[in-house]
Amino acid sequence: MKFRYCPDCGTELELRQLGDEKDVPWCTVCDKPWFPVFPAAIIALVYDEDNNVLLLRQNYISTQFRNLVSGYIVPGERAEETMLREIKEETGLDVEEWKLRGTWWFARKDMMMIGFTARVRRAPLHLSTEVDGASWHSAKEALTLVHQRPESVSRILTQLFADELNISL
Ligand SMILES: [Zn+2]
Repeated sequence: MKFRYCPDCGTELELRQLGDEKDVPWCTVCDKPWFPVFPAAIIALVYDEDNNVLLLRQNYISTQFRNLVSGYIVPGERAEETMLREIKEETGLDVEEWKLRGTWWFARKDMMMIGFTARVRRAPLHLSTEVDGASWHSAKEALTLVHQRPESVSRILTQLFADELNISL
């Protein structure tokens, strides 16, 4: 979100040069900058010891495609903590090993996505109310079930995982 008015005092902001940054929205009354703010979320490809991928059915996100685990970072939380927390909350599973895979800008929602892969010990699933179903799939299968748009972070992470296993469609 870009600010046009100061969220504290309501004054219309003017653009200022601030160090190396040009066009920084500035409140002349409060004498401070208002940089754009945006939410940040984690997204995690969960896989088991046999490299099966866990896909979620979440009808509030899509009835057509399956999803990876995702969730917003709450203020004060580290992205790694969010990832572990969301996997536990949404699936009931414990992570044994994880890797940060990169960050992506999700333009449709003006949001920063922080992508992980996380290996879990396979156990009975305990799904949260945000999840309508979940199932294990080979990486090859998973590639056909996640969103097909090339910029989809679900797709990017699944492709990356499949590439590492040397799987092609
Ligand atoms: Zn102000």
